[in-house]
Amino acid sequence: MKVLVINCGSSSLKYQVLEMETEELLCKGLVERIGIEGSVIKHEKIGMDKWVLETPMKDHKDAIGHVLNALVDPEHGVAKSMEEIGAVGHRVVHAGEKYASSVLITDDVIKALEECIDLAPLHNPANLQGIAACRALMPNTPMVGVFDTAFHQTMPAESYLYALPYEYYTKYGVRRYGFHGTSHRYVSMRAAEMLGKKPEELKIITCHLGNGASLAAVKNGKVFDTSMGFTPVAGLVMGTRCGDIDPAILGFIAAKEGKDFAGMDKVINKESGVYGLSGVSSDFRDVENAANEGNEKAEVALKVYAHRVKSYIGAYMAEMNGCDAIVFTAGLGENGITMRKAICEGLENLGIELCDERNNVRGKDTVISKDSSKVKILPIPTNE
Ligand code: ADP
Repeated sequence: MKVLVINCGSSSLKYQVLEMETEELLCKGLVERIGIEGSVIKHEKIGMDKWVLETPMKDHKDAIGHVLNALVDPEHGVAKSMEEIGAVGHRVVHAGEKYASSVLITDDVIKALEECIDLAPLHNPANLQGIAACRALMPNTPMVGVFDTAFHQTMPAESYLYALPYEYYTKYGVRRYGFHGTSHRYVSMRAAEMLGKKPEELKIITCHLGNGASLAAVKNGKVFDTSMGFTPVAGLVMGTRCGDIDPAILGFIAAKEGKDFAGMDKVINKESGVYGLSGVSSDFRDVENAANEGNEKAEVALKVYAHRVKSYIGAYMAEMNGCDAIVFTAGLGENGITMRKAICEGLENLGIELCDERNNVRGKDTVISKDSSKVKILPIPTNE
């Protein structure tokens, strides 16, 4: 059976078609500038050149119409007719406390996701538009919602509650949700497979280090804690997000700089992180290059980054009473040889021993710890 997976943003849409039994990727593509001038679909059948088509698309339904046409195109398509697409998977950011795994999309599911719009006002509406468009164009094809928050729903109250007045949790759903769940789930399961164990036998710390970044403490196959919170701005230092800060800083800077709430929201989400600290870039490659050329702010930005990851690893080892494996994934986790070394350095007393030679690897799932290391270290390419 062929499965279409869709990740709908507000003005863009990414998709892939996979052969479910073999998990073979058949094609992938990106639609950009939906609803604005210059709409374009970039479609790539695996093994062929990219097919780029510029054509007006006024909304997500139009965009998905073009995707479906591309899928059955005689030259670039991967199916003879739409009947060959047996199911559609939709990535949805927020399912609140409603779902702890992927679900078949029904009217009730859509209603529940609409109720979560408040919690993810930028993402859930676009995700829902994608679902509505697909349901209109493929009314008989089963659709599944896959939620960024779902895998983290196993967290116990001591991990997810903030020490705020309790009624903010009951009235408004203010709690830690966590994100990147699909990635943490995939890499923790893959790590167990690589170590020849069942997820239920392992304590794993998964480090998803991309533009956005989060850690998860996965104990016996279930999330015990994660570093992102009510929103994705919490936890680690990221490309442009600040991660954990003293919450009182917000009011202090707002008063000093004459900023309102929206202004401060922009500071913590778009102007901070390694970009804000280094003044160079949010891309780790640029920051690493600048540091190598002697830029001191870039150097310190990378040190702050590694320090924060280290402190979470320590915290999660304490929370789980040890750990069997640390997994590095996403752009920086999979490729950042220097960053992995900086994070693992000085953790030998916790049983974490990186092998420099084995660490010299990018984009491959393998073991990079020394044979003597109590905690195995594995880079694993994510597959969200
Ligand atoms: P997202 O999906 O969150 O946009 P990615 O998982 O693609 O992010 O990760 C993007 C980050 O990975 C970028 O900051 C980039 O600098 C970093 N990255 C990618 N390749 C490398 C590399 N070879 N060395 C260091 N960092 C890298």
